[in-house]
Amino acid sequence: MKALVKKKAEPGLWMEEVPVPEVGPNDVLIRVRKAAICGTDIHIYSWDEWSQKTVPVPITVGHEFTGEVARLGSAVTGFTKGERVSAEGHITCGHCRNCRAGKRHLCRNTVGIGVHRDGAFAEYVSMPAVNVFKVPQGVPDEIAAFFDPMGNAVHTALSFDLVGEDVLITGAGPIGCMAAAISRHVGARYVVVTDVNDYRLELARKLGATRAVNVQDSTLREVMGDLGMTEGFDVGMEMSGNGEALRSMLGVMNHGGRVAILGIPSKEVSIDWNPVIFKGLVLKGIYGREMFETWYKMAAMLTSGLDLSPVLTHRFPAEKFQEAFEAMKTGQSGKIVLDWT
Ligand code: NAD
Ligand code: ZN
Repeated sequence: MKALVKKKAEPGLWMEEVPVPEVGPNDVLIRVRKAAICGTDIHIYSWDEWSQKTVPVPITVGHEFTGEVARLGSAVTGFTKGERVSAEGHITCGHCRNCRAGKRHLCRNTVGIGVHRDGAFAEYVSMPAVNVFKVPQGVPDEIAAFFDPMGNAVHTALSFDLVGEDVLITGAGPIGCMAAAISRHVGARYVVVTDVNDYRLELARKLGATRAVNVQDSTLREVMGDLGMTEGFDVGMEMSGNGEALRSMLGVMNHGGRVAILGIPSKEVSIDWNPVIFKGLVLKGIYGREMFETWYKMAAMLTSGLDLSPVLTHRFPAEKFQEAFEAMKTGQSGKIVLDWT
């Protein structure tokens, strides 16, 4: 089969012929139809310090995908050939304390497809059946292709009660934009999104942000004044990985505010702990998706009016992956989907 492979420990990715992955008794072989590019894939492409430490070569990359069931392992029940599916890319151990308590997203032994083991930028991917999720009818393949980051947005957004609350999202990347739409969908009052990239801010507006603010041009205080907000934000979602964004967020949270932190900083970030302490802020780190509550909530919202389609801005055939990666690197994109059919 064809696969996009990190073949050598140097920048780049290579389209190669590789064997179809093996299917164990508890696995499902999936024929990939569409896959989406994540920031992580860009890191692996560029072969930055994190990738050098984390990713074994050779490896098939990619973890955001959808496709159809091609083959079932001998012990698998509950799926049929041809069914449309996506899958949770975090494979958990099943035997640690959290796994056994049903809190798999807190597994201490998580292995990621496309990062630690062969991934989904290929014609076929093999997944443990427990990770496979049926795509609800009515959700197009090209949307199901990015269930993974959508799940990050859902997990973050649903971490705290949003009904009637004022929400601040720092970072209008694909995940920040989707979180804005989700927050509106579940009943937030104001959803303010910040970035330093006007293309992304326009995307946030399309997804329902009340205000999309370029923090190079105006301050959050000005926007709050504009909206008639007198106290501060109730819920914050840090989705940029930028230290300055996190610091400014802590400054404008109301007392008792709750902050969910998804963005991954590339280096250590220092904060002033005074607002955290004196305002009694609650900070929560977010990793991945809750298995599988996030997936069910996501499916339910997508089939009851949540429209995330504007976040998908570019489509390429898999062979044109170079162009797709270049488009992603410019920052002038939302989600980019590769067609593997
Ligand atoms: P992205 O890199 O596309 O988006 C980040 C955005 O933040 C960019 O648009 C950038 O312009 C913006 N930004 C930079 N400086 C800013 C500032 N000072 N204020 C406001 N915005 C600023 O990433 P994404 O794919 O949308 O993911 C969002 C973040 O979440 C990234 O940091 C990513 O690494 C992280 N992530 C975490 C998990 C997890 O499980 N914790 C999973 C996926 C992604
Ligand atoms: Zn575990």
